[in-house]
Amino acid sequence: TYILAIESSCDDTSAAVLANDKVLSNVVANQEIHRKYGGVVPELASRAHQQNIVPVVHQALAQANIDKKALSAIAFTRGPGLMGSLLVGTSFAKSMSMGLEIPLIEVNHMQAHILVHFIKDENQKTPTFPFLAMTISGGHTQIVLVKDFLEMEILGQTLDDAVGEAFDKSAKLLGLPYPGGPLIDKLAKKGNPRAYPFPKPKVDGLNFSFSGLKTSILYYIQKQTKANPNFLEENLEDVCASIQYTILEILMEKLEKAVNQTGIKQVAIGGGVAANSGIRNRLAAAEHEKGWQTYIPKFEFCTDNAAMIGIVGYLKYLQKNFSAKNVVAKARYVIGE
Ligand code: ATP
Ligand code: FE
Repeated sequence: TYILAIESSCDDTSAAVLANDKVLSNVVANQEIHRKYGGVVPELASRAHQQNIVPVVHQALAQANIDKKALSAIAFTRGPGLMGSLLVGTSFAKSMSMGLEIPLIEVNHMQAHILVHFIKDENQKTPTFPFLAMTISGGHTQIVLVKDFLEMEILGQTLDDAVGEAFDKSAKLLGLPYPGGPLIDKLAKKGNPRAYPFPKPKVDGLNFSFSGLKTSILYYIQKQTKANPNFLEENLEDVCASIQYTILEILMEKLEKAVNQTGIKQVAIGGGVAANSGIRNRLAAAEHEKGWQTYIPKFEFCTDNAAMIGIVGYLKYLQKNFSAKNVVAKARYVIGE
């Protein structure tokens, strides 16, 4: 079975070809245009998808060395995401499936961030059901109970900002360019994580909150800069390390709570923030520190990519779980809906 997968939910245009559960190609075109605006501009994102989609799909097929006539189905991201961006991928996937007369398969982007763990790879472990998944990305922060491939229950989620947003907004306060998450990660490696103790929010249950952190960072920097105008330049690495440490503490605390509450010790992460070296280390360490079995996606499968859409496409293909040709993109699309 050959699946062509298309992802266009935010600012990356991506296409992948899978042979069953193996990835043959996974092409991602990043949109540089948003950098100068300090965030994703929806209108520009959809235009860039229009420009990128044909060459990206061509490249994915060429790299996989698969003729489009050999494809079994087209999978695409139906949502959640930016409507204008989703429409480009949805329309393209529909047209191609009609042209080739093969099935169309809609995929929930957040399920894909979780099911990425079922991509076949000799060096990666695969969880068994049930397991816990923490999706940490630019738009979401959720702890999900995964009962089966497509049977998931959200146990907790952020009440305000997503963790990726917390990284990006903190970076903006430090004068770093968008997206700031990877830069904080890089600078944090050289800093002292305990230099500045930022307060952790008090949130009940398995929910999260990140908006207060941003405010306390802002006040802290303003106060320090008043005393020493060069405070940020002189202490940037320590500030980054402290911000990242606080965020990781929040994430790990809730994960631990979820493990204790459910008794499930298989823990997976997914989403762009799963690329963070700190969370990858903390989770890996939990194997011997807490006796968990942990699942960390390969780096390139953390941030948005079509390979993760392809694996869900393949799993749905096996069930003949196809979409009607009048399916519409869905900007808000909750797991399990
Ligand atoms: P969603 O998946 O919720 O719809 P999205 O698709 O826009 O949101 P992703 O591509 O999954 O988001 O993740 C992007 C986020 O990941 C950004 O906020 C980015 O800063 C963050 N990120 C990427 N790499 C790192 C890193 N190394 N450390 C911290 N954050 C990172
Ligand atoms: Fe994403």
